[in-house]
Amino acid sequence: MYDAAGNWTGSVTVDVRNHYCKTCGRVATLQCDYPTRTRAGKARTCDAWICQGCATEVGPDRHHCPPHQRQHEAWAAKADEQLRLALPGAPGINSEAAQAVETKGQNHDEE
Ligand SMILES: [Zn+2]
Ligand SMILES: [Zn+2]
Repeated sequence: MYDAAGNWTGSVTVDVRNHYCKTCGRVATLQCDYPTRTRAGKARTCDAWICQGCATEVGPDRHHCPPHQRQHEAWAAKADEQLRLALPGAPGINSEAAQAVETKGQNHDEE
């Protein structure tokens, strides 16, 4: 979550009321931390309530709701692609690393 000044606080404020997972309807204990912006351009997080079963943990105290995790994966796949295109074709490049990127890209294609 971000505080009012837009700084990452690293923690999720748990309300005493019950919240329900927006995906499956079970009691939710986590909130989506996917960064978004308000129409005014202020940094905030999605804050959709999600249960542990539906949340994807992306870091300490950071979780994504299913739609945002898909967006995140699409973004990561695109970043991979750009990295691959940016790789110089010159000799001396670590071919093993290039192959790893290649394999990852193929996995994304299967989705
Ligand atoms: Zn759920
Ligand atoms: Zn979200």
